[in-house]
Amino acid sequence: MVISGDGHPNILKGSGSMGPLEDGQTAIIIGGGPAGTSCAITLKRMGRELGRDINVIIYEGMKFDDNCIKRVGVLSPPLTQTLEEKIGVPFPCQGIERKIAGYYLHSGDAKIKLYTGGKLSFVGHNVAIDRYLLDKAKELGVRVIPGRVKDIKLYPDSVAVESDLKGAKGAKGDVLVGAFGLDAETAYLLEQVTPYKTPKALFSVVTRIPASPEYLKGCEDYLHVFLPTTLGDIEFAVVTPKLNDFIVNVAGPAVTEESLEQFLALPEIRELVPPEFTEVGGRMVSRPLPIPLEPAQNSFGDRFVTVGDTSGLVRAYKGNGINSACETGTKAAEVMLKVGISHQAFRDYYTAFSDIVEDLPYGRTVRQMTILGERYGTMPSALRAAAKDRTLVNVLVDFLSGTKTYREIVGDSGVLRLSLKFIKGIP
Ligand SMILES: Cc1cc2nc3c(=O)[nH]c(=O)nc-3n(C[C@H](O)[C@H](O)[C@H](O)COP(=O)(O)OP(=O)(O)OC[C@H]3O[C@@H](n4cnc5c(N)ncnc54)[C@H](O)[C@@H]3O)c2cc1C
Repeated sequence: MVISGDGHPNILKGSGSMGPLEDGQTAIIIGGGPAGTSCAITLKRMGRELGRDINVIIYEGMKFDDNCIKRVGVLSPPLTQTLEEKIGVPFPCQGIERKIAGYYLHSGDAKIKLYTGGKLSFVGHNVAIDRYLLDKAKELGVRVIPGRVKDIKLYPDSVAVESDLKGAKGAKGDVLVGAFGLDAETAYLLEQVTPYKTPKALFSVVTRIPASPEYLKGCEDYLHVFLPTTLGDIEFAVVTPKLNDFIVNVAGPAVTEESLEQFLALPEIRELVPPEFTEVGGRMVSRPLPIPLEPAQNSFGDRFVTVGDTSGLVRAYKGNGINSACETGTKAAEVMLKVGISHQAFRDYYTAFSDIVEDLPYGRTVRQMTILGERYGTMPSALRAAAKDRTLVNVLVDFLSGTKTYREIVGDSGVLRLSLKFIKGIP
């Protein structure tokens, strides 16, 4: 083991060039989700524009087939622009099952309809999107190794990984990109060789409720967001209509399969899903899946950078993680090509997302208020009051759609009135 000057294992402060990646240098990316593939595609495409051919290797431990757990796959604006304008790949129209025009926000017996004013989201299968981006990366010459990384080494002048793929040698490169989502085992590997600390997370349990195309045709193109007042461990839940099913996910710090079943038994859910839906049997339920709540600590350093969920640079509680993954992936690639691969260079990457970091305290406050409103049952009356007031409706649309930061929304005049309605009645 190599020990650095500051006592941290395996990190040595830089000898060797850590300037912009040069022709023939190698980037090793752990994870072929949207963050890893966006990074890989940009390294290849932008590298060529700059007259450099970068070797890019992605390690991906999963087969993106239909046995993968469906998450939700809501592609929110501005993903179309991120893909087409920043990453240079067409939006995957063939993978889209439905468009989404707005939200129904439910709490207790209250329900409010929120139209996003023509800003459409799209629902696809998240695995189809992952596969599409990975194929685009392969077309550009990215080498995809179908194995899980099980060892990481960082040296002053290089990086190296070993995988669990039988017969495959490890790879050596110039820079390491952590794009492994919130995979705990891989986070542990990186934590052993760098000061990186995985982000704090919220958990979500997901299931799929089959429904006939006729039944689903009768449903509006709206997502249903629930802020339950009676189920303490669920902070929010989302029911998403697709082409042949509804995807239901419940989220909270400690949600379980049981929380999901309790949610599915609520009368407001029974109204939404087909009457023949039965609570048990044949339904696949995911394990609790993590969603980052805040940025990781020490998310970059000499010769390494993290992107997507691994970096935690996502808009807290906004649900557009796929777009954030693509944006962070492509920005990290741009910095590696134009600025360098040192700790100093990656500061440029991190500061490009300072709006996300600065928005955290505002996001946390909104989250705490929502939890209080649920716990003390003031949420339904606040929703009913908001429904009668156009300004308050717009504030709620902004909260849910993720197009504005929390800070921008809090600066809005309607928020104070909305807050008072939520707080009224809390002992
Ligand atoms: C229940 C749920 C629903 C969601 N719904 C939405 C939604 O509707 N819309 C939205 O925009 N976002 C949604 N998200 C968030 C979104 O899924 C993530 O933000 C996004 O997938 C992050 O992309 P990523 O590339 O950073 O990580 P991931 O998509 O998690 O990809 C990481 C990849 O790394 C691979 N990997 C991990 N460790 C290793 C290793 N050691 N070796 C090789 N490969 C490895 C994994 O197999 C995985 O494929 C949801 C999340 C959850 C949990």
